[in-house]
Amino acid sequence: MNTGTYDLTKKRILVTGGAGFIGSHIVDQLSKAGNDIVVFDNLSSGKIDFLGKHLDQPYFNLFEGDLLNDSEIEEACENIDIVFHVAANPDVKLGMTDTKVHFNQNIKATYNVLEAVRKKKIQNIAFTSTSTVYGEATVIPTPENYGPLVPISLYGASKLSCEALITSYSHTFNIKSWIFRFANIIGDRGTHGVIVDFIRKLRQNPEILEILGDGKQSKSYLHVEECVKSIMFSIENSKDEVNIFNIGSEDIITTTRIGKIIAEEMGLENVEFTYTGGKRGWKGDVPKMSLSINKLKEKGWKPELNSEKSVRLTVKELLRD
Ligand code: NAD
Repeated sequence: MNTGTYDLTKKRILVTGGAGFIGSHIVDQLSKAGNDIVVFDNLSSGKIDFLGKHLDQPYFNLFEGDLLNDSEIEEACENIDIVFHVAANPDVKLGMTDTKVHFNQNIKATYNVLEAVRKKKIQNIAFTSTSTVYGEATVIPTPENYGPLVPISLYGASKLSCEALITSYSHTFNIKSWIFRFANIIGDRGTHGVIVDFIRKLRQNPEILEILGDGKQSKSYLHVEECVKSIMFSIENSKDEVNIFNIGSEDIITTTRIGKIIAEEMGLENVEFTYTGGKRGWKGDVPKMSLSINKLKEKGWKPELNSEKSVRLTVKELLRD
């Protein structure tokens, strides 16, 4: 197993979900660092346009396939040095109405990735997990060693299951792993989440913004470019068999404040905010989320943008499209 630090240059890298929001930004950074990249994606929410500048480049290959098809992912894993497993169904709300989607797209898909990694003797895997594995944590900001982990959404449960599969494969088959527990990641190419929803609602009706819950939900937001930089930094600076990192900003921002920033950036002065009520936006919504990023800071990485600045920059980027 690779127990030293890992140099992310001149590698052959597979990115599952590489046509998606975060995945395509990971591809941008990895290609800048001089790696060969294979994107594995079924384009269910990902977009070819997000990969536009890479499509005809010699370092790049797109493998259109589905993670639920084990032979396809096994074929894509041929001669790969490290897998970035980013593909998932990230829609937390969906678990209320569809109890199978996260089981299949997250747990089963991750099992198929791990089996392909094992069979092709790949020694490194990085995984995009989530703050929702902590559930309603009583320690805030929540550190990586917080426990017990009691997710309250089916999505959070599925990601925690994926983490457990990855750590056990790491130990059993000598595979080095990195698990990144993200706060809310936002930015250019974002296709889902509160900012995208609010912009859509305000474009439909610039006078009223309905906010799910009481608007006081307070969470950490981080711009996607900083998220990707921190992933690269962590991979290059950690030596354990299993390396778990929180990734977020150091402050939190309320949902109402996000609505106000969006209204300001859209030039709307008299928006009436209405609330569906209750402390959560939906069943499974965690009202307060802030991650301790001390582990990353101690290694020497710190985000440049706080939540407010990440949100404002994202709104400007999304309004440009
Ligand atoms: P996204 O929907 O934009 O990207 C997911 C990608 O995976 C898409 O390109 C999609 O087409 C692909 N995909 C989905 N199912 C697939 C399958 N069965 N086979 C092949 N490809 C498949 O989502 P995102 O926001 O970029 O999220 C990326 C990762 O980060 C996910 O693992 C998500 O759980 C995690 N995450 C995201 C956030 C956030 O704030 N965006 C927060 C925490 C964790």
